[in-house]
Amino acid sequence: MRHSAEHVLHQAMEKLYPGLLAAMGPATAEGFYFDFDPRGQKISETDFPKIEAEMRQIIKADLPIVRREISFSEAQKLFKHNPYKLEWLNNIKKKGEKAIVYATGKDFIDLCAGPHVTSTGKIGPFKLLSIAGAYWHGDEKKPMLTRIYGTCFATQKELKHYLWQQEEAKKRDHRLLGQKLELFFISNAVGQGLPIILPKGATIIRIIQQYNRQLQESLGYQEIMTPHVGLKSLWQTSGHWQLYRELMYEPMKIENKDYLLKPMNCPFHILAYKHKTRSYKELPLKFAEYASVYRLEKSGELNGLLRVRGLMQDDAHIFCEEKDLKSVIWEVIDLCQTHYRHLGIKDYQMRLSLRDPQKKKKYLGDDQLWLLAEQALEKALKEKKINYYLAAGEAAFYGPKIDPIVKDSLGREWQIGTVQLDFMLPERFQLGYIDQSGKEKKPVLVHRAPLGSFERLLGILTEYYGGAFPLWLAPIQVRIIPIAERHLTFAKSLKTKLTNLRVDIDERNETMQKKIKEAEEQKIPYMLIIGDREVSQQKLAVRQRGEKNLGEMSVNQFFRRLKLEIEEKLVI
Ligand code: ZN
Repeated sequence: MRHSAEHVLHQAMEKLYPGLLAAMGPATAEGFYFDFDPRGQKISETDFPKIEAEMRQIIKADLPIVRREISFSEAQKLFKHNPYKLEWLNNIKKKGEKAIVYATGKDFIDLCAGPHVTSTGKIGPFKLLSIAGAYWHGDEKKPMLTRIYGTCFATQKELKHYLWQQEEAKKRDHRLLGQKLELFFISNAVGQGLPIILPKGATIIRIIQQYNRQLQESLGYQEIMTPHVGLKSLWQTSGHWQLYRELMYEPMKIENKDYLLKPMNCPFHILAYKHKTRSYKELPLKFAEYASVYRLEKSGELNGLLRVRGLMQDDAHIFCEEKDLKSVIWEVIDLCQTHYRHLGIKDYQMRLSLRDPQKKKKYLGDDQLWLLAEQALEKALKEKKINYYLAAGEAAFYGPKIDPIVKDSLGREWQIGTVQLDFMLPERFQLGYIDQSGKEKKPVLVHRAPLGSFERLLGILTEYYGGAFPLWLAPIQVRIIPIAERHLTFAKSLKTKLTNLRVDIDERNETMQKKIKEAEEQKIPYMLIIGDREVSQQKLAVRQRGEKNLGEMSVNQFFRRLKLEIEEKLVI
């Protein structure tokens, strides 16, 4: 239906803009788009009502959409005025595919593999959404085309819901909020996908790190620190050089040896394990690190903080005996769930990511080890009665994994952390430990990062909360707003009383209304308005984010309220 709506757009455009050349366009997961070469004609979003009206005419006429297979010479004749179509046609011919066209009514025909609805009347409610420039084949050396995006749904209700979702998503876009709330920026002077986290963003990350560190310490994790580069030979041993290379940067030469910037920490943590002979008494051994890693994501796939080229993980590697594997996995799953509960993330599901059985060359190890690893993870999930779903082809190259997938209030899904099981790297690095009977055995390795990367987490939480972070995470928790200069002394003494809270004072010579409005825009959880009455009675006039007036409180009352809200990590 969306594909057919795209043809109707194309047909309407040809009628309204004679001489325009249609390049190509697909249906997408959420709608459709089409690229046009307007050949000097101006097209903008203000033209949408006109274009939509024309589209509606075509839909109302309920024109039949008919598939035809034609010869290449016939097709070449049909599209002789359109170099884009001719190029397309050549590609089809080269691939040995057939020339297929779809005709809508009598006046319109396009090169297309289909499928389509049988007539235009079957196309549901649609809407044109936006217009953008796009290079032909995404190649900046090729001509710039005009891309029109639209969508279409079976019912008006679904379309409405989608449009609402889009509007909400725009308001929550972490790239815009990141700028407005001064959380981070990405500078061309640094390079694409390499964000700089500003003090407010760094505060949120630091608070989460402190919290994460405390939990992990209580579970016996030990922190280590490892370098950002390592010899290429190390990455050959680990298999990264063979199987993860497209995400790695080119080697750099240091004194004639090749070094690689790390995309993961595993080889370093593995060497830390191998540093001395290990006994079963030390297992499970848990090495943790807040480590930056670098991945060469394609520039077209970079997206604010959600897809970056440099990221800091809450990484750890657990080395354990095979018999303890289940309890280790359960402990990690518990740790993930504790984190999400405290971050206010309620709706998530576990995805069991397996090897793609069709593409075994993309992975290390043999069938038997994979079967063993995949079954071990599935068993751990089943026995813990955790809901999960399977995803073939999503495994790491060294083993299967459990990936928590979070759903936000708009129904969008985000992968947040990961728990990975690995029989391969202990083998490749020849790891061992002395078991209870004095024999040498091979440990099993669990790679895990409950939060994934801190950059991505900051992006996800910003969208999740629309920038209104819960009190324990808010970069500024309380803003004191003195009404006039004479209230400043009281404001300052109040700030010193609110120890352990992140408090600032809006000292500017602006009206109270303006200061409140800006504090609201900055999504600061609490505002204390200080005027004559507050100074003389030593009371606080408290406002809560979201234009809620909480009335008068004593300093102690206010302090206790916030302390509870922080300790309980409440989401209000
Ligand atoms: Zn790892």
